[in-house]
Amino acid sequence: MSRAKPNASAAKRHGNAHVQILGLNADVADTTCASVLLFTDQRRYVFNVGEGFQRFCVERRLRLASAKTNAIFLTRVDSSTVGGLIGMLLTMSDAALASHGGSVDGLERRIVDVRGPRNGVDRLGRAARTLFGNGRAVALEENGFDGIDGEAIVDDGTVTVRPVLLGRNRERAEDGGDTKRARTESASASEVASYDVKLASIPGKFDMAAAVKLGVPNGPMRGALVRGETVTLEDGTVVAPNMCVGLEQPGPRVVIFDAPTLEHVREALSRGTSLFGNVDDMSVVVHLASASVVSTSEYVDMVKSVFGGAREQCAHVFANSKAMDEVPVFMSSARIQARLNAVHSGIFPDENVPRSPPPSPSRAKDGKRDKVPSGVANAIAGRNLFKFTLIPTKNAGSDWSGVPKYVPTAVYKGDVEAKTRELASAAMKPTPPPSPSSAPRPGADLPVPEYLQKLKLGDVELVFLGTGSAMPAKYRNVSGFFMQFGGDGFDGNIMLDTGEGSLAQMIRRFGVESVNEKLKHMRMVWISHIHADHHVGLPHILTYRAELFRRDGVEPPTIPVVGPRSLRRFLDFYGDLERLHCDFIDLAETTSDKWASETMSPQIARLRAALSGSDLDEIVAVPVNHCAHAYGARLAGRRGWSMVYSGDTRPCQSLVNASRDVTLLVHEATFENGMEEEAVKKRHSTTKEAVQTGIDARAYRTILTHFSQRYPKIPIFDASYTERTFVAFDLMSVDFSELPKLPKLLPAVRSLFDDDDEIAKEAALGEDE
Ligand SMILES: [Zn+2]
Repeated sequence: MSRAKPNASAAKRHGNAHVQILGLNADVADTTCASVLLFTDQRRYVFNVGEGFQRFCVERRLRLASAKTNAIFLTRVDSSTVGGLIGMLLTMSDAALASHGGSVDGLERRIVDVRGPRNGVDRLGRAARTLFGNGRAVALEENGFDGIDGEAIVDDGTVTVRPVLLGRNRERAEDGGDTKRARTESASASEVASYDVKLASIPGKFDMAAAVKLGVPNGPMRGALVRGETVTLEDGTVVAPNMCVGLEQPGPRVVIFDAPTLEHVREALSRGTSLFGNVDDMSVVVHLASASVVSTSEYVDMVKSVFGGAREQCAHVFANSKAMDEVPVFMSSARIQARLNAVHSGIFPDENVPRSPPPSPSRAKDGKRDKVPSGVANAIAGRNLFKFTLIPTKNAGSDWSGVPKYVPTAVYKGDVEAKTRELASAAMKPTPPPSPSSAPRPGADLPVPEYLQKLKLGDVELVFLGTGSAMPAKYRNVSGFFMQFGGDGFDGNIMLDTGEGSLAQMIRRFGVESVNEKLKHMRMVWISHIHADHHVGLPHILTYRAELFRRDGVEPPTIPVVGPRSLRRFLDFYGDLERLHCDFIDLAETTSDKWASETMSPQIARLRAALSGSDLDEIVAVPVNHCAHAYGARLAGRRGWSMVYSGDTRPCQSLVNASRDVTLLVHEATFENGMEEEAVKKRHSTTKEAVQTGIDARAYRTILTHFSQRYPKIPIFDASYTERTFVAFDLMSVDFSELPKLPKLLPAVRSLFDDDDEIAKEAALGEDE
């Protein structure tokens, strides 16, 4: 195979050029593949866009979901590498529309160039298109390739990119057979691309002294000479570049290498040096496979065989969750979590990670034998935000300056003021029950219902995985709820809405071992409506779950996914990419009349079977006022409790009726009071409207969620309503037995945010979206 041919005329100044590791979910080991960013001063290339990509960019102020990203390359096409792509495209589209007065008329559609193995990219495109209506300002352009060895797929003057495919023959063989059945389960048997990237040559340095001597004037002529052009001076003297410009240097070469399974590793080993040809100009190889794969002796043998010819300085950067470390990726959110923990450690549990403080970068170098395979020369643990400088070549090598430092949660907790702590302990003091004789006030607290008095800790728990609206952001992830049941012989759990990153959030709350166990006992998933911030995390949850069963040698049992009818099309197409092992049920088939009907429909029968043995008796879809096919849910427990989740909605009578005397109403409150007009336009609720729904329905408790993504101040609501109302935060865990005391914590939580200097500073600066 041929080497990239230096292209003198295309030689441009790169300025600086770097490769950087973006460990999207480095702290949770949820199988999300790291993203790799290759950037020069002018151009940006992104490799893989797993779940959490947008949130990562917001946290780190990286403007990658913008016009500046020149192409997206996928090494695999599955939920580990594309989980963040759809959300990113929708956000880009919304931003383009917003800056164009909200209409697509006359708007030039932005095409996002997505490169990857053809089969996968085509299937992804078909699935994604089910979610992009005509009103979208961004379209995905599937630029799949078949991996004809040596052929460049990008040659734009900055980089020349050549893909190398592994697993290609296997996929071909399967496609020839019974296609649907023999379809690959996951990346374990499908095409995987690695990318051989050669930067254009670096122009020689302009020799000022020589130019002055030759009489070359300041201005465009000098630029022309640097670009390799010969110029003629006014006096007729012909000056060639070699007379005053140093020699052009060949551009650095980088390989983004992915061999996710041992089968891929073996294939790479057998192909040896034919994969990338002569590698003596290689600067850095980024390895994306998981720790369990790269730690095998076969992997090391393969690296020696394929990259053995590289020069001594060639670095091997390992970007897997083990190599990266456990420093919280979303540090602003981790900080809030730690501070809330000082208010109530049960309702705001510590993040489950890091399990142990990770080593400092200097210690990481000493201890790198644990983090990277021994036997690979110049191996580097590619920690989150680790950078490798390519140009200027005199600085080439590792750059640890951007790698986040670990901050022990005790530091954050130590900042909590005495006033907040006093309010928190005051809230825990027993208070007399509301006296029935006092004059009825609409927001007055209600007596604890009898069934609730009997519920014990661990019987019914609701975990808020994401409490923000629209797009994953710094302080709040998008909508996701996990609910689990225990005690009295009940078990099992369900999920309500699964915005992007819900699985990672669940691991942050419970730790990976515990989540693996819980997912095996998941009974169903319920999705309120088709907006991306409520369901984009679903494929990753389902494929991750299926893999847990397969690892045990068990065929994954299907579980019901109840959702809006348009979700069925997405899941059908997505199922061509990876098997989801779910059984779709239209929300419209689960309304109250369907549950009450004497002749049980197959859908209700299926749900009843899935829920048997759990505390959840019914989950009824309640039509609400938002987009087409949008629903809220009314859940009824066997031990007398009940809960309503509003989904996204304007205040509506159907929801008030469904919430009558409910134990807990979880209601969206997207907009602050005073933004009624916006709320009407976008068909959401304001704080006041959400609280009022709870009061009107005599809900025992109301928890507000789905907040607009600015900074996490506590919404204002009428003081007389605070006795029954609370505000949700990410990873907040509400055990139903603790519902009575929940509102009492509000003053402490409020003071925590009133006194938060960092958030105040952030708010003053203004967020960048
Ligand atoms: Zn919505």
